[in-house]
Amino acid sequence: MQANKPTSNKLLKSINQQKVLRLIYTDGPISRVELAEKTGLTQQTITNIVNRLLQDDIVLEMTPTASSGGRKPVPLVIDGSSMYAIGVEVAVEYVRGSLMDFQNKRIYEVTKRKNGNEGYPLRYIIGAVDELLQHVPDRSRLKGIGCSIQGLVDSRQGTVIYSPGLGFRNYPLRDRLEEAYGLPVLLENDVNLLALVENLKGTLAASQNNITIKLDYGIGGAIVANNQLCAGANHVAGEFGHYKVETGEQALKCHCGAKGCLTTIASISGLRRSSWTLENLRAGVSEQEPEAKAKFKQIVDAIGIALGNVITFLNPEHVLLTGALVDELKELLVPELKERIRSNVPETCRGVELVCLPATPNESISAAGLVINEFFDVPLEQLSL
Ligand SMILES: [Zn+2]
Repeated sequence: MQANKPTSNKLLKSINQQKVLRLIYTDGPISRVELAEKTGLTQQTITNIVNRLLQDDIVLEMTPTASSGGRKPVPLVIDGSSMYAIGVEVAVEYVRGSLMDFQNKRIYEVTKRKNGNEGYPLRYIIGAVDELLQHVPDRSRLKGIGCSIQGLVDSRQGTVIYSPGLGFRNYPLRDRLEEAYGLPVLLENDVNLLALVENLKGTLAASQNNITIKLDYGIGGAIVANNQLCAGANHVAGEFGHYKVETGEQALKCHCGAKGCLTTIASISGLRRSSWTLENLRAGVSEQEPEAKAKFKQIVDAIGIALGNVITFLNPEHVLLTGALVDELKELLVPELKERIRSNVPETCRGVELVCLPATPNESISAAGLVINEFFDVPLEQLSL
């Protein structure tokens, strides 16, 4: 038993340090006294930990504010401006990267657009990260790389399970990037990541049960039930794009192997199959052009059916709609969908609120947030920030 003691002590020391670090991050500015009260650790332990954090330039002491008598407590904050994270958005048509400091300030951004139909994006990711690395003020202060992926991701294993648009299948992306850069790498599905960010501190912060739907090049969804993100048994829950909305002759074949999926109609890739772009669809609808109006109605009908079913089944408080299709067609789409919900779902579920973001967020910034949260050990899946 004796042999294990140094390890146990070391582990305890690092657990305590992590506890203190997290509290300074979430509750800072915070004094040593408050840290001791909130963690239950002794003043001496707190002093030792804070000294280490000060020495490593992770924490800063601020000027004490006026206090009534006695020694003024010194507020502690995270020195966010001298720690960095890289975030990469791996989309079907481009790779976008951001170098962020831990105060969420962007230092540099890069976008690599893909040529033609090349499916394999690793060299684009490497290209983006290499360029960002040139702008890191101090490499030893770079804490990791976070990736937001348009595809099915097993974030624990660090693999892209399947992404037809990216050309990945059971691909160990985390290992490849960790080998290349010697830094911790974190992966998350793009819609799950967006749902996590919005549930933590965004438009869904007050919501406990909600779904996020992204209508973009493809279509993805994320489910939050009782403040927990539902990943499903195989990390494929929320595959809203493969809801069936067409049957019979006119149902188009989908890349998933089935027919009549929502994504074959109501995504950018679906629009392209019938020679539409978002821009000419929007222009055609505004000019009351019959073909465009018919196409728009087909899209609204398809999303309306899928959305009605998922709302009836899950009874969410909120549905967050996002993605390029929503950004472009919001004013036309949202009132129509509200009407469909009123007529398609049972009265008991009609209280659901449809919300949109002003614009789809920069996902490379959210991806850098994965690294920052991991560094402070904030349990993302518990949505408890
Ligand atoms: Zn499908």
